[in-house]
Amino acid sequence: MFRAALRHIRFLNSFADRVCAIASGMRAAAAMALLAIAAGCATPSGVGGAPGSVGALGESVSGRRDAAPFLAGSSVVALSTPGGGTPDDAFNVVFVADEGAYGDLSIAANFDRFAAEARAVIEDGFRQVDGLRLNETLLHFYVLKATGRVMGGACPGNLRFPDEVIERDSLFADAFIILHNREDVRDCADTGTRYGSAGVRREGGALVRKTGVAVHEALHAIFLLPDEYPENGGMWPTDPPVVFRNRSACESYRRDTLRITTPAECRRLRDFRGEVWWQADFRPFTPDIMDPPSPFDRIVQFGPADWRRARAVMRATGASVVDPAIP
Ligand SMILES: [Zn+2]
Repeated sequence: MFRAALRHIRFLNSFADRVCAIASGMRAAAAMALLAIAAGCATPSGVGGAPGSVGALGESVSGRRDAAPFLAGSSVVALSTPGGGTPDDAFNVVFVADEGAYGDLSIAANFDRFAAEARAVIEDGFRQVDGLRLNETLLHFYVLKATGRVMGGACPGNLRFPDEVIERDSLFADAFIILHNREDVRDCADTGTRYGSAGVRREGGALVRKTGVAVHEALHAIFLLPDEYPENGGMWPTDPPVVFRNRSACESYRRDTLRITTPAECRRLRDFRGEVWWQADFRPFTPDIMDPPSPFDRIVQFGPADWRRARAVMRATGASVVDPAIP
């Protein structure tokens, strides 16, 4: 998290009533409204989803300091911290090894293999996304020495992270990505707890890491970007917006703010709850980072609405931000 503004950006992915309860319990820091939830706690029905369903995500920027300072020599090992500085100067991604894939990390060869794969995800994934590479000093990467587990069953309930380590050493993290080798798991992100997963697919006889998925899931957690694929994604309101609950608002945003001039209209999406959304970033034949092409290891870029959202979160920290060319 960022030192400069002493702001702690919390991403809350929860029931609508819980989001509102947490938000109202926070200190009324002046910055809090900057990226306040677009859903609006007064009208929870407006975010879709009946009470008790996973119906809203909230975000607040408060004046709270990180709960725990980063301590060198802890169970967290820095892999890549461009520009130097501390975790307070950046958004922080912590890779966690699935014990089933890497074994006991106290064995040096296992740890080295895990760290090498994490480095490959950074270089072949995150650094291939223009908006991240051009602002690479804002994104730091770490690995944990303690292992987690990816179980069978629905994601994210199937992800097991080493609680003790996370609580003690990794409170600075903005996203945890567990690297695993299971082909039978659909990867996902739980933005409320900052956890996501990235697995593998089989190509011929070889397992190929789904690097694009690691980036996609991390961006859910860091920027709260919603999915933009047509069916069964996680969609929610953000500010600035990425997806819309009605077509006309989407069309206006696309035309007046994003200035997308291609002839296609906003695309209709349906989320995993069956609710309808509209995607402003849709341009024919242009997949973006939240609408990744199969088999999900190709790297694609931010769409125009995605980038406005990511840039707003970056700028809220007080950092200067370099804009990529958006196709
Ligand atoms: Zn997603």
